[in-house]
Amino acid sequence: MTLSEFDIIRRYFSAAGAPRADVAVGVGDDAAVVEVPPGQQLVLAMDTLVGGVHFPDDTSADDIAYKALAVNLSDLAAMGAEPVWATLALTAPRNDPVWLAAFAEGFNALARAADVQLIGGDTTRGPLTVTVQAHGLVPRGRAVLRGGARPGDVIFVTGSLGDAGLALQRWRQGLPSFSADHTYLAARLNRPSPRIHEGVALRGLASAMIDISDGLAADLSHLLAASAVGARIELAALPRSEAFARVCAEMGEAQGAQIALSAGDDYELCFTAPAARHAAVTALFAGFDCGCQAIGLIEAQAGLRVWQDDGTLLSVGRGGYDHFAS
Ligand code: ADP
Ligand code: MG
Repeated sequence: MTLSEFDIIRRYFSAAGAPRADVAVGVGDDAAVVEVPPGQQLVLAMDTLVGGVHFPDDTSADDIAYKALAVNLSDLAAMGAEPVWATLALTAPRNDPVWLAAFAEGFNALARAADVQLIGGDTTRGPLTVTVQAHGLVPRGRAVLRGGARPGDVIFVTGSLGDAGLALQRWRQGLPSFSADHTYLAARLNRPSPRIHEGVALRGLASAMIDISDGLAADLSHLLAASAVGARIELAALPRSEAFARVCAEMGEAQGAQIALSAGDDYELCFTAPAARHAAVTALFAGFDCGCQAIGLIEAQAGLRVWQDDGTLLSVGRGGYDHFAS
């Protein structure tokens, strides 16, 4: 039997994610109707993943869906917002039920874990493109912005950097990923972990925050520009996973410091806090598995200065992925 657009919506998307009491009308009418609690502000993020641009063409349907939601939840986390709802625009080349079932399963896995309900969307035919809009809530005036960093603030990064970038580099080179380390790196690329609880917990503690999607150097530079400050960071302080270190050694990549600094797709949080709150940040992250590392300091002088082990400055290009760069 061939699936119509309406069969697809009914079968795969009408009850996706976590059922929530604040959804008055979900999928099935002309638009969704939701309750925003008094005293809360609605925080909206939208990101599109295009096949062959944002993920390798052989990425599985469940990973594509998982990642499309994850990158949006990461943006909400970087605002200190608690995710609640999402909409999904899916453009797919075929109405393949096996692919669609896997896609729905990947979306559901993260949506349920994050207590997010899918409340609407659009389904069309064409080259594979997935757009998710995530909706979050934050108490009025408490969203954490990019512009609040001040000279003397400490710069922190959650989790580890470069895992996804290294996995992507290996994929581009056609290298296999058989060992546990390679599988770990591939999972970091295909199923990023949005730091949702960490972002919410940093409200009132972080002075500025951004999520790292285009590489630390590029995204920290955005935070610095928004705050009209500069920074010094220590290359050796960038947190790297054990798997990352071992695979870098295998590949003769020395420390992989450049990958950790510049490669994209980490979906970790980069945030700043006044030095007087350093201990509070450390105490907070004792309760989170991902951990958190101080990597440098905000300075008044504009620009990002990356110090190497040997006491010399690394020259940092503009870095980061730009869809419209030639
Ligand atoms: P309309 O023609 O009025 O735009 P649609 O047929 O596109 O309506 O959508 C019907 C219902 O299904 C709406 O509630 C819409 O939000 C929902 N919907 C369509 N596609 C998706 C999808 N991929 N994920 C979630 N909900 C969807
Ligand atoms: Mg309609």
